[in-house]
Amino acid sequence: MVDKERMEKFYQFIRVIMERINSHFEDQKEYIHCKEGCSLCCEKGEYPCSELEFEFLKQGFSLLDKDIQQQIVENIVQLKKEKAEFDGKLFMHKCPFLINHRCSVYPFRMIICRTFGLSYYEKATYEEKNTLKVPFCIEQGLNYSEVYDKENQTFSTELFKKTGYKKEPLTYNLDVEFLVKKFGQEIMDLDFGEFKRLLDWL
Ligand code: SF4
Ligand code: SF4
Repeated sequence: MVDKERMEKFYQFIRVIMERINSHFEDQKEYIHCKEGCSLCCEKGEYPCSELEFEFLKQGFSLLDKDIQQQIVENIVQLKKEKAEFDGKLFMHKCPFLINHRCSVYPFRMIICRTFGLSYYEKATYEEKNTLKVPFCIEQGLNYSEVYDKENQTFSTELFKKTGYKKEPLTYNLDVEFLVKKFGQEIMDLDFGEFKRLLDWL
């Protein structure tokens, strides 16, 4: 059970990171093709989730209509069954909270979900920026696809010039570990508790 003070701090953390993430989306809006009903980013993942995020998700779940709750429970049962029979390494799955191509707990979603759609550095630290990661929907002609050079796996200045867009594509430090460490732990002294894959909390 997470105490009230910790949860309050977590709400504050969410406000802080959302201010940052929303400004990135605004800045990159020419490249962002997200729209309601587009849910590819919630269909194949492992979804890292801390104890605090899971508490938050539970709050969202408790506010849902009973029939939606029932559908989520059925999704979870089915996924657990599939996972038990799975003998590979990474069990990538559809998020059980995705109902009719929409997030049923959107205001309560995890940190990682809030970064879906932007390009980011994987495992970014203060000192170094490493591998450029792009939303996988780039392959479907969605976010950043206009400016992505597949062969060299980078953004192309030449392609950018052809678009006529105002802003160049940018890449951000959006790794969950980075956001948690920088804004949650260092600035707010917030304890996120254990991190697990979403399905392991359920
Ligand atoms: S990130 Fe990609 S898949 Fe997800 S909503 Fe946006 S456009 Fe669709
Ligand atoms: S919690 Fe919502 S936004 Fe996050 S993966 Fe699940 S359906 Fe998608």
